[in-house]
Amino acid sequence: MHAARDMKLIVLGSGTCVPSLKRNAPGYYLEAEGFRILVDCGSGTLLQLEKAGKSYRDIDSVFITHKHPDHFADLMPLVHALIATPKLNRNRDLYIFCPKGFVEYYEASVVSVLGHPNGFSVRTIETPDKLDFGPFNIITAKTIHSKDSIAYRFECGGKAIVFTGDADYDQGVIALARNADLLIADCSFPDSMKARGHLSAKECGMVAAKAGVKKLALSHLYPADPPDTDRIRESGENFDGEIVLAEDLMTINI
Ligand SMILES: [Zn+2]
Ligand SMILES: [Zn+2]
Repeated sequence: MHAARDMKLIVLGSGTCVPSLKRNAPGYYLEAEGFRILVDCGSGTLLQLEKAGKSYRDIDSVFITHKHPDHFADLMPLVHALIATPKLNRNRDLYIFCPKGFVEYYEASVVSVLGHPNGFSVRTIETPDKLDFGPFNIITAKTIHSKDSIAYRFECGGKAIVFTGDADYDQGVIALARNADLLIADCSFPDSMKARGHLSAKECGMVAAKAGVKKLALSHLYPADPPDTDRIRESGENFDGEIVLAEDLMTINI
């Protein structure tokens, strides 16, 4: 109804830490009302943005799910590019929302190498349980994956998109995803390869069904012998809604 308030999502990376020509490391571009954010920023995210016809120049904020390199490795290249691109002259701050313990890492790595930019600040903020940023109401939940790993829910214009980040099955993720229009789920492995700390395909379907989401996108796909499409069948055993395999550069409008 209010097209201007729609959220536009572009999958920049549907893969993992395993280098793949088909699936880049995790990264998602989310845009609404002229605000442009990244959810995770694994290696290659900046180039994927260019391929998607978007630009690092326009990013207002980055939301990091957890402290594994496949989810944040392009932060330093992002800040470097914002500092050093000729004639860019950025003058608005970049916000990095991150889990506990990440600010210290950022200071010790990125700031120690690049220092503080002139003309704008990089504001690193431990993501609170709830916050408002631009047009987004954001809610987080701890996930069962690594110390301080979190999932994100972005609400805007009465719609909701939930990113599990890396997550195993638990009630917290289900509660966070309640009635979401789109759930981007960690579907690291098919059921036959279930690994602790990650949702299997079947569990993705269980989360989607229990939460009552409209659409499920399976992402964070490790390479596996069974074809990726098997994961759609496995997650569909428990979930009647729409299921898609995330693909790099796929756009979903919500
Ligand atoms: Zn990961
Ligand atoms: Zn991880």
